[in-house]
Amino acid sequence: MNNINAEISGAKKIAIAGHIRPDGDCIGSCTALYLYLKLNKEELEIDKVDVYLEPFGNEFRILAGADEIMHTYESEELYDIFISLDCGSLDRLGNALKFYNTAKKTINIDHHISNQSFGKVNHVVADASSTCEVLFTLMDEKLITKEIAEALYVGIIHDTGVFKHSNTSEKTMNIAGKLISKGIDFSELIDESFYSKTYIQNQILGRCLMESILVLHGRVVVGTINRKMLDFYEASSSDLDGIIDQLRVTKGTEVAIFIYETDLQEYKVSMRSNGEVNVSKIAVYFGGGGHIKAAGCTMKGSLHDVINNLTPHIEAQLNELK
Ligand code: AMP
Ligand code: MN
Ligand code: MN
Repeated sequence: MNNINAEISGAKKIAIAGHIRPDGDCIGSCTALYLYLKLNKEELEIDKVDVYLEPFGNEFRILAGADEIMHTYESEELYDIFISLDCGSLDRLGNALKFYNTAKKTINIDHHISNQSFGKVNHVVADASSTCEVLFTLMDEKLITKEIAEALYVGIIHDTGVFKHSNTSEKTMNIAGKLISKGIDFSELIDESFYSKTYIQNQILGRCLMESILVLHGRVVVGTINRKMLDFYEASSSDLDGIIDQLRVTKGTEVAIFIYETDLQEYKVSMRSNGEVNVSKIAVYFGGGGHIKAAGCTMKGSLHDVINNLTPHIEAQLNELK
């Protein structure tokens, strides 16, 4: 695929969805594509575009169109095309899977190295910083409005940690430059969607850092949040964004792990690598996925089990590197 307009030609009803517990790239890419299709409905001869995502934090409400994203899945609509964005596997589509299953054609646009190519059409660029970067290359540049540029920019800054992660390339920066030329207020977008935290979010971050532990001779830092803490602070998973980034900058660590309780005996694990450890390999082993330096998975058992199951994999890789 090299142009989204050609790929959707002839479709009247289109659904867009991203992965469960959507992050900035997922929200940005879904919002950008939604606006792009909606604003060009007539030219593209589309009747209806719906976008589905699980609920997300208010910091993304600054994006035009974010309020039109649907969070319920009762609709019995049968779509001509279902477009999956930033999602590596079908199980990560959550409730939107039903629209994937009933759509006439499916398109999978992503940048995860672990992507399972589950679409009829697959466009996966593993060396792209973000799905928003991939999406930009598939859009007609002159049809990108300021609002679309804002959504794409937000996605790129979230997956690159504001252009600091190693997934940032010359191409990423060139695209960011083109988005800036659309007149976006990039300072505000970065502050409002990425750095700004509520008091509660800061408190949880502080608590997690304070209680974090070092394992494997200080080469791995582990931060955890249990259900009780989430309830105490009346926080949701979107309030935990950014904790892993702070753990990652702990001097001397090769890997940072952030674990939070999602259900009884069930934990969401985020991993970041500062060096040579391939965390995607470990996440894939436990049924998850991601990128070499940023990956995640869901694990069962007690918190102790989760940590004890993860660390031998990191240790093995660290020993190999020696
Ligand atoms: P996170 O740690 O949730 O910020 O995710 C880091 C990267 O790994 C992102 O690109 C995610 O999309 C991916 N990822 C996280 N959890 C999973 C999972 N359970 N399955 C597949 N990919 C995941
Ligand atoms: Mn994502
Ligand atoms: Mn992404």
